[in-house]
Amino acid sequence: MDAEEFRQRGKEMVDFIADYLTDIRSRRVLPNVKPGYMRSMIDDEAPLCGEQWEDIFKDVERVIMPGITHWQSPYMHAYFPALNSYPSMLGDMLANGLNQLGFTWASSPACTELETIVMDWLAKMIGLPNDFLHSQENTTGGGVIQTTASEATLVALLAARKEVIHRVQAQFPYLSPAEINGRLVAYCSDQAHSSVEKACLIGLVKLNLVSSDESLRLRGNALRQAIAKDKENGLIPFYLCATLGTTGACAFDSLVELGAICEREQIWIHVDAAYAGSAFVCPEFRHFMNGVELTQSFAFNPSKWLMVHFDCTAMWVKSSPALHRAFNVDPLYLQHENAGVAIDYMHWQVPLSRRFRALKLWFVIRSFGIEGLQKHIRNGVEMAKLFESLVKSDNRFEIPAERHLGLVTFRLKGGNELTEQLLKDLNMDGRIHCVPASIKGKYIIRFTVTASSTNTDDIRRDWQIIRQSASKIHSPIDH
Ligand code: PLP
Repeated sequence: MDAEEFRQRGKEMVDFIADYLTDIRSRRVLPNVKPGYMRSMIDDEAPLCGEQWEDIFKDVERVIMPGITHWQSPYMHAYFPALNSYPSMLGDMLANGLNQLGFTWASSPACTELETIVMDWLAKMIGLPNDFLHSQENTTGGGVIQTTASEATLVALLAARKEVIHRVQAQFPYLSPAEINGRLVAYCSDQAHSSVEKACLIGLVKLNLVSSDESLRLRGNALRQAIAKDKENGLIPFYLCATLGTTGACAFDSLVELGAICEREQIWIHVDAAYAGSAFVCPEFRHFMNGVELTQSFAFNPSKWLMVHFDCTAMWVKSSPALHRAFNVDPLYLQHENAGVAIDYMHWQVPLSRRFRALKLWFVIRSFGIEGLQKHIRNGVEMAKLFESLVKSDNRFEIPAERHLGLVTFRLKGGNELTEQLLKDLNMDGRIHCVPASIKGKYIIRFTVTASSTNTDDIRRDWQIIRQSASKIHSPIDH
């Protein structure tokens, strides 16, 4: 393909994407295929000679689309949102064209500098304390774009581990890092995302899953007791992953209570606000992050609810030197004359290479403005409130956990098997898509408002589908 053909094909691709997104309501949100569906549609061997673009592109509708789950559809209510937007896609189109590997400042000054500026913008937009900003005098904080929230949790854990090993060794020089590592214990609530467990597996540290309270929040008392018991058993508490907006029911751990304890115990608090973080662009939702000044690192995914398409996890730390100590390697071929003066993001993450993700974030923030992003979040919350009111109007159903932001949990009254059957039927039908969670032994369905275009007609349509499905299930409770 030469530049002339690229111009033509690129325009066709843009048309294809715009049509796809505009007409997305006409597609069944869940694909109706079985594992291995694609095997018979594609040759077993790669082509020896290059093919015509027309032939390649024809296969998108024939081979790919039947197996696509339409994440951008307003009828998608599973997981959390993973939204894109036109400015975001244009940002990545440009990033792909430039194809920067911004591991050091020298390897791409623009990639590094835009990221530091946009991460400061975003920190201010969600009301993070100044300690997390690059531009603040006399602080060591700053933001970095990681690939996923899981990676941010891991990065924070590895930095906290390095810090505690250093501290304990200063006190007990005869202990090796491996001996100290073997006694480290991390904490999170029983509602935290499984990525915390994964980070602990990789870091070879114990994890104490502390019980959440009846509102599914991790509270100070429970943490205090867990820490005391672990210390009695000779363990060294060093890391807490607090969740703002849990995956199951969007519950919020109490940072105020946890922060006071962790400050005394010298425990690094990492905040995982993967979904809910986007909502903090609206001042009315920021009370959920009270106590954030007591934490060491904070991450959320603009790639979930802020219309910056995957991947993009915004992570901030108060101590960038702590990241350096955890990740600093310094081979000759990566050295440059501005090292130490400029930021080299390779010291802030696990991989070396990194994409120019700040471009799509910059385009989105500038195109929508803070007000446009606030409007988008508020619309999602309003749609969730509407859905909640519809569920409440039907006495066959119950809402087992308080609704927060754009996530409503619901179930059929009675045994778990009724709700399990309902969800199975809904997903087989495929006109809407939801996933389950378990809340204190109750099987529940999560209904997340995802698309920015979701309107009241969509919500009423989806509720109709749920009600009709429920009517087909034998329930001891009369309507
Ligand atoms: N943390 C929370 C609270 C989540 O809900 C999720 C996913 O939805 C994750 C972490 C994992 O996100 P990622 O896929 O970015 O690692």
